[in-house]
Amino acid sequence: MDTIVRRKYLVYSKKAFWSFVLVLAVFSCSSESNGEGDVIADTEPPTTPSGLEAENITQKSLYLYWDSAVDNVKVKNYSLYQDNKFLVGSGKASYFLENLIPGTEYTYQVLATDAAGNSSELSSPLNVSTMDPLEAELQYDSGNLEDYLGNLLDMVPGISANKYKVPTETDLKQWDLIIDAILDEDITEAVNQAVYLNYQIVEFTDIYSTPNQVYYILKEYDIRLNYWGTYVFSKTPKRKDLVLAAPHVLHDQKTGQQAAYTFRRNVGKALFLSGAHRCDTDESSSCDGTTTSCSTQYAPYRISDVPHNTNSAFQKTTENLFEALPNSVFVQLHGFGKESTDPYVIISNGTNKTPDKDYVVMIRDALLEEDNTLTFKIPHIDINWTRYAALDNTQGRYINGSSDPCSVPATATSGRFIHIEQERSKLRENETGWLKISNALGKVF
Ligand SMILES: [Zn+2]
Repeated sequence: MDTIVRRKYLVYSKKAFWSFVLVLAVFSCSSESNGEGDVIADTEPPTTPSGLEAENITQKSLYLYWDSAVDNVKVKNYSLYQDNKFLVGSGKASYFLENLIPGTEYTYQVLATDAAGNSSELSSPLNVSTMDPLEAELQYDSGNLEDYLGNLLDMVPGISANKYKVPTETDLKQWDLIIDAILDEDITEAVNQAVYLNYQIVEFTDIYSTPNQVYYILKEYDIRLNYWGTYVFSKTPKRKDLVLAAPHVLHDQKTGQQAAYTFRRNVGKALFLSGAHRCDTDESSSCDGTTTSCSTQYAPYRISDVPHNTNSAFQKTTENLFEALPNSVFVQLHGFGKESTDPYVIISNGTNKTPDKDYVVMIRDALLEEDNTLTFKIPHIDINWTRYAALDNTQGRYINGSSDPCSVPATATSGRFIHIEQERSKLRENETGWLKISNALGKVF
């Protein structure tokens, strides 16, 4: 029954279609025959596109752009040719090419077409080579870890540099393989997987620590493409549960160096350092929250702001370690501009709930032993305190069990996320302050 009814419907709709075409045909005939000259055939082709150039060339992708062609009516489309074969059409005078072969020369040409179908000549060809494939090989280096990371921090691009690349879903799956391999202590596998994302692993021996310590540093190749940050793993951690992070290395001044100093002294499990300024990109994050960090008015977080974006290597690494290491605690070091009504330190677990094991209180007490002039606010104790409470931090939300860290606040706390906001002079400015944080965390973990 059902089939018959549907068939009938199909017959009717076909009929309706042909009637429509007939009406159209009659209408257009009559309009042509009225002799008013409304319809003049456009036979003039657009000018040939020029100025074809390539930029952002990687092993597998590049960005092509050219000067717009000119037409007596309007340019409708550009046809892009790769090695003399039509590749793709584009309404814009640019195209982003992906899935190219590393170390390969390609020839590109482009032509313009107008609405009437007139095409220009093909532009003069542009020859462009993708970057050579990188060799997947474990790198070795030695020295003082803090100095080594300090050099990397000095190279982090600043505000509005627009360097940070938003990772694709495929990128993040690949990233996960790298982190899995590192946690499995299969460094060869990690090296082999990292190369696909322009990352390498350096086995770094800190010859200035006693005994010498070995670290695996997951860092981008010198020609950076992604700016996803640097991730350090201790081969033999002394504090297995301590994962330190500085997600705002440039904006929250000195927190990158402070984190490197604290990590090295405590030989924590892992250290994450962001690879771009939080305001690197103009594009907004789709996750909750607003900030005045990148503008004078409150505005959404930027997509390069890694603690406010679930779609990042920073988030992925946090999630992976949180699941793989059942007792791990994630301590994020931040910095803020203290106003007269603010304390020197705001420590939050990412919610205003009290966990079973309250690391926030332990860290506060340990810090007070280091410096009894410090003042504190703790959102789950000072229950009306909301400033810098980090309730929209996407790593915090994940660790506290949110169903969707991008858009759903956590309703409980695991106690394994610690967000430390620091005024500048007491803890963040120089080694005197860093030592207090380092000692306090050393005592707690
Ligand atoms: Zn911050």
